[in-house]
Amino acid sequence: MATLEITNLHARVAEEDGEQILRGVDLEVKSGEIHALMGPNGSGKSTTSKIIAGHPAYEVTDGEILLHLEEGDFGDVEIPEDARTWNLLELEPNERAALGIFLGFQYPAEIEGVTMTNFLRTALNAKIDERDELLFGEDEDAEEEEAGYDTSPMEGNVDDGEVGVAEFQKLLKEKMDLLDMDEKFMQRYLNAGFSGGEKKQNEVLQAAILEPSIAVLDEIDSGLDIDRLQDVSKGINALRDEQGTGILQITHYQRILEYVEPDYVHIMLDGKVVKSGDASLASELEDKGYDWVREEVYEAA
Ligand code: ADP
Ligand code: MG
Ligand code: MG
Repeated sequence: MATLEITNLHARVAEEDGEQILRGVDLEVKSGEIHALMGPNGSGKSTTSKIIAGHPAYEVTDGEILLHLEEGDFGDVEIPEDARTWNLLELEPNERAALGIFLGFQYPAEIEGVTMTNFLRTALNAKIDERDELLFGEDEDAEEEEAGYDTSPMEGNVDDGEVGVAEFQKLLKEKMDLLDMDEKFMQRYLNAGFSGGEKKQNEVLQAAILEPSIAVLDEIDSGLDIDRLQDVSKGINALRDEQGTGILQITHYQRILEYVEPDYVHIMLDGKVVKSGDASLASELEDKGYDWVREEVYEAA
């Protein structure tokens, strides 16, 4: 089981006189748990997610983000004793991803499905390669290149340990089944660009393929109609139930939480997590809005 542990995180915009945005965020997310991070606009939710990913726009001024790993987090891959705790703030974004942290990644908005399939396969192979380098300090590609082999990721040039084209097609099909995505999506996926809702579904599909320990989903519910919201929610639940992925679900609204029931709900205000509770906290927000939290927090201070 992996644990993402954020302690006393302070951060500011990485510019001269950049604004202080995070003022002491504490959060702990384990694989298999669903956490909802809620809060009014501008409270620092997206900043928190971007800093977890390693976005260069922010400078961490205090606090830490640790990732704790256990045997079994990478299936059969043994994790050396000295590679079980990682200071994420010292790692590059792709290294964080390789160790099992997922944030929906950017891709050219309108690339075709076939290219997308290749893109995902390349991302999966890069992740596995990077992970093994971090765990074991080996770089197979570099060794093979030195030995004079061509290691470029071309078809028919799949080296050992890499997921090849046919194997990936199988994996893709398996994951679409897991997420209950139908063949129609597969066809559209291969033939056409994505609608807004399909992009969100694709984000969940990415997470299914990369099998992260922890997935951070920032406003994956925004702009979805009710049908698509239910599809996306089904997928998120499958990530947790079938793959044991821990979910940090960032949302302004309570709506998606009816379909993806959180084990924990956290409320952010002015760059801090000011209140945590179970799913009933989200219902309370729905009834009373965020002002109630603000009053409670500032009266107590
Ligand atoms: P949320 O996701 O909760 O709506 P954000 O994390 O996006 O909030 O933003 C929190 C605050 O930090 C906002 O006031 C926003 O304007 C500011 N902010 C975030 N990123 C930047 C940036 N790169 N430059 C300047 N201000 C920023
Ligand atoms: Mg946001
Ligand atoms: Mg390599």
